[in-house]
Amino acid sequence: MHIGFIGLGNMGSPMAHNLIAAGHQLSVFDLSQAAVDALVAAGAANAASVQGIAALDCELIITMLPAAKQVKAVYLGEEGLLANIRPGVRLIDSSTIDPLSAREVAAAAEQQNNPMLDAPVSGGTGGAAAGTLTFMVGGSEGDFAHALPVLQSMGKNIVHCGPAGNGQVAKVANNMLLAISMIGTAEAMNLGVSLGMEPEVLAGIINTSSGRCWSSDTYNPYPGVMENVPAARGYSGGFGTDLMLKDLGLATEAAKHAQQPVLLGALAQQLYQSFSSQGHGALDFSAIIKLYTGDTE
Ligand code: NAD
Repeated sequence: MHIGFIGLGNMGSPMAHNLIAAGHQLSVFDLSQAAVDALVAAGAANAASVQGIAALDCELIITMLPAAKQVKAVYLGEEGLLANIRPGVRLIDSSTIDPLSAREVAAAAEQQNNPMLDAPVSGGTGGAAAGTLTFMVGGSEGDFAHALPVLQSMGKNIVHCGPAGNGQVAKVANNMLLAISMIGTAEAMNLGVSLGMEPEVLAGIINTSSGRCWSSDTYNPYPGVMENVPAARGYSGGFGTDLMLKDLGLATEAAKHAQQPVLLGALAQQLYQSFSSQGHGALDFSAIIKLYTGDTE
């Protein structure tokens, strides 16, 4: 299939590589020339602009952009995709954005007969490179079925979540819970260790008891408890604090529109905001435990 791909950053670049590896013909664009050059070296064609992608005979265009602002510019702008593509070209946005913006863009696309899916991912840059991402997909059943083989060349768990925007709903709900559970795990680990327990023993108890969760048994924030997690390498790599902060902003915004309380989600957002403004925005989100341990490194 001839696929257009816009947004070749930390996630988009490995995803695009996997599409080439699966045998698709790829035309790409990114504001970063270096990112484009790396894909061209792997066999993609340089489309030079969003309009350049729109003018090609792509059957499908995938975007992987930072936030709603860029997504709206790329889809809805005068020089954007919708103003310049043929009817029938299929669209998938895999960026993480708020559900309302996703629905707005999808509605504009549907109106001119361009079937669109929102398909945010989890699994991080490692999952993107390994082709094992989870895709949470919003859109019609038929469009989902059509996109499935392409998504399978970039991911492993591909879940249809319902109509347009529901992929983003699943993503914000999950990541809000992840932030809350990470802070809870950090708080409990710090309390136990402060009261005299060995961190490994405490983690072992929690992980076989009712407090067990992913933040505790797979990604424990306490240094020395687990190997191969950010806590074991000074909180480098992994899922950045500022990216988590962005997702918490999406959750609290979506909650405002739905007029639903997110008491713990809002508190988690404030804790991550405070942690980021202390200069820790680039550290993995499990480093939030430093708020408790007083470690200022
Ligand atoms: P990134 O900042 O590394 O990449 C974004 C890319 O988009 C950049 O290369 C940038 O040059 C390009 N871009 C921005 N505006 C553009 C425009 N108008 N036209 C063309 N290109 C443009 O971000 P990322 O880490 O790849 O994340 C992409 C999305 O995936 C975000 O929404 C993020 O929240 C989400 N996400 C990231 C991770 C992760 O671990 N990094 C995990 C899951 C989801």
